[in-house]
Amino acid sequence: MLQYRTIPVTAFAQNCSIVWCDETMDAAVIDPGGDIDRLIEAARLLGVILKAIWLTHAHIDHAGGTAALAERLALPIIGPHPGDQFWIDALPQQSQMFGFPPAGHFTPTRWLADGDTVQIGHCTLNVRHCPGHTPGHVVFHSPQAQRAFVGDVLFAGSIGRTDFPQGNHAQLIASIRERLWPMGDETVFIPGHGPESSFGEERRFNPFVGEGR
Ligand SMILES: [Zn+2]
Ligand SMILES: [Zn+2]
Repeated sequence: MLQYRTIPVTAFAQNCSIVWCDETMDAAVIDPGGDIDRLIEAARLLGVILKAIWLTHAHIDHAGGTAALAERLALPIIGPHPGDQFWIDALPQQSQMFGFPPAGHFTPTRWLADGDTVQIGHCTLNVRHCPGHTPGHVVFHSPQAQRAFVGDVLFAGSIGRTDFPQGNHAQLIASIRERLWPMGDETVFIPGHGPESSFGEERRFNPFVGEGR
């Protein structure tokens, strides 16, 4: 069964999640935006073995620690979708603009596409391409655990910004309605910032994309 622990990192309190298979204790880090030492220490305390980095998208608060962590532990970098190549290329400017430590450049070991799966230990998660906040944004879904790691697509009571280059509001709404809602009302999602919620809760009450009113 999939287990996870969420650790806010960087000045943006980005929800980095360590996810692991409790049969093998193999773990992946989703969105290591920074604070690499804390993440390595958290993995040690959890008793898990870090095997991979999974990226939802390439904004600095989500991807800024990727190169350093990958180098330090020789981890493969899985994701995001190739639509975010320009954001990876812009990481040095992003770190300067937001006062982050310099972010190293990296090349994903494996790009992701809609319908792909990623594996950690005996756990398989489905990959959905959810563009709108960034063109290459992906989310990771475990139907078994009824959890989805959605980065900056959807938040409790809000949705991702679309005022960045190549952001697209209509596309973001479509991503949420056509790719997140079908995962089921009971599915709990871990957003890139702030508290967890369920798709059912947001589908009804979210003021930006909900059906309530
Ligand atoms: Zn973002
Ligand atoms: Zn973010």
